[in-house]
Amino acid sequence: MVEGKILKVSGPLVIAEGMRNANMFDVVRVGEAKLIGEIIEMHGDRASVEVYEETAGLGRGDRVVSTGAPLSVELGPGLLKGIYDGIQRPLETIRDKVGPNITKGIDEPALDRAKTWSFTATVESGAEVKGGDVLGTVQETDVITHKIMCPPNKNGVIIDIHSGEYTVTDRVGRIKLEDGTTEDIKLMQKWPVRISRPYAQKLPPVEPMITGQRVIDALFPIAKGGTACVPGPFGSGKTVVQHQLAKWSDVDLVVYIGCGERGNEMTDVLREFPELTDPRTGKSLMERTVLIANTSDMPVAAREASIYTGITIAEYYRDMGYSVAVIADSTSRWAEALREMSGRLEEMPGEEGYPAYLTSRLAQFYERAGKVVCLGGDGRVGTLSAIGAVSPQGGDISEPVTQATLRIVKVFWGLDASLAYKRHFPAINWLNSYSLYRDRLDGWFGENVSAKWMEYTGRALKTLQLEAGLEEIVKLVGMDALSAEDRITLEVARSIREDFLQQNAFEDVDCYTPLAKQFKMLELLFAFEDKARRAVENGADVEQIATLEVRERIARFKAVSDDAYLAEAESIGNEITAALGSLATAR
Ligand code: ADP
Repeated sequence: MVEGKILKVSGPLVIAEGMRNANMFDVVRVGEAKLIGEIIEMHGDRASVEVYEETAGLGRGDRVVSTGAPLSVELGPGLLKGIYDGIQRPLETIRDKVGPNITKGIDEPALDRAKTWSFTATVESGAEVKGGDVLGTVQETDVITHKIMCPPNKNGVIIDIHSGEYTVTDRVGRIKLEDGTTEDIKLMQKWPVRISRPYAQKLPPVEPMITGQRVIDALFPIAKGGTACVPGPFGSGKTVVQHQLAKWSDVDLVVYIGCGERGNEMTDVLREFPELTDPRTGKSLMERTVLIANTSDMPVAAREASIYTGITIAEYYRDMGYSVAVIADSTSRWAEALREMSGRLEEMPGEEGYPAYLTSRLAQFYERAGKVVCLGGDGRVGTLSAIGAVSPQGGDISEPVTQATLRIVKVFWGLDASLAYKRHFPAINWLNSYSLYRDRLDGWFGENVSAKWMEYTGRALKTLQLEAGLEEIVKLVGMDALSAEDRITLEVARSIREDFLQQNAFEDVDCYTPLAKQFKMLELLFAFEDKARRAVENGADVEQIATLEVRERIARFKAVSDDAYLAEAESIGNEITAALGSLATAR
């Protein structure tokens, strides 16, 4: 055990001497209170320690003891429904024990040591197993079956294994490893957070993560295993978007990392999230959620740990063959923590004081997303999609964190304060948002929704871009300068914005739209456009077209229930044909 002494304390940074034999990234306990920290730099016998708790009261000469192990998380049944801080301390258990403020240096295991779980073995004595093989299952919550897996790199033969009631640290069986040693099988394993969990093979993400949010699915889709970034100027609907994604995305589990917005916002998350119901099961969303939340009394340094803790837990569930979504809010706060530490370490600052390694750190996080063939003989496939919120100052997305993130992620949902102000929700700006998965998902949408999915969604995007150009012209020279064709374009674009993109998260039917219905909505809009154009060619008046009653029905179509919309679409389609047909012939 390496033990050194504090030389200097500077906020969350502690410099200790006498640490020559310690390792980079070892967890250390600092001072009498045994505060938890991590070695982030070594120079000779000096170690720079990032302390994840308030360092007030520490002084020169206090003890710094290395635990000899890197920052690790406990992985096993009981993670779901859990609320943890950045270093995986169970916040609720601690609150029950010592009240709302975490006592410094408190040691409380992440997974409850007393709780028993019903384990069903799925392999037998004598079975040859290797890392990732499923050894048995535990029904962790009503909706998630937890697979107990052979830890990576542990290949061998099962000596014995028994179904039964166990705590996470009980021995459920034994395994004889290839090197001849015997190892206990437990429901829990540990994993160092800075190292991504191994998998057999990475696969290209070619399937969408369906969200039921029209602007996302149709215009800016994210793949299962993909990465996305959403900036959130205050009041632009960032929270609602995150809640909608957590509730509706067709993933098995959600890991939500709240890495320290302003103190009160974080408590909002702690209060709101457990109250969300899972629309598919009617049960609490927490049945399939792990919440990582830094409380306001934790120093900024802990934000960094929470990112790694969260993504490691997400990887672990992906290993079971599940599709997992990680939502991190906000990565800007994490970047600010990096900047603060970098400053204290007196590193050469990069743009706006952020360290030069900002981009590579962000990339390391997002690279852990992906669709993979998991370890283990059964070839199961899991996905991890990562969605990071950024909070650029004043909504200015040219700042370094947003720009660095945009170089890494493949989807950008540009929440826009001015749209929110106009009450256009979700306030995702269709002109600056993008998805680089559109082409790759083409095949899936073609097979599973319609061969015309790409054509129609592309046409919607194109129409909105045309609208932006035409609006410039109107501003300069007025509406009269536009041709009848252009005015139809404007009408259709308005319809796309108001009747398709605007979606009320608080309205029963509207809050989630199945893909097939999204397609029908576009089909109706474009049927209207095509017929309107023909009517105009035959001399019909644009004003009359714009005010046709059938447009009201198109607008109300989003609120038509899932079992009635097909019939309604057909009926609207007929009315479009009739109304525009008679306009054309009326002349
Ligand atoms: P932020 O977290 O960005 O500050 P919120 O997510 O709390 O903003 O959204 C602010 C308000 O905007 C919400 O209270 C709600 O009234 C409205 N809003 C946001 N998104 C939607 C939506 N999809 N549908 C309806 N209302 C919305």
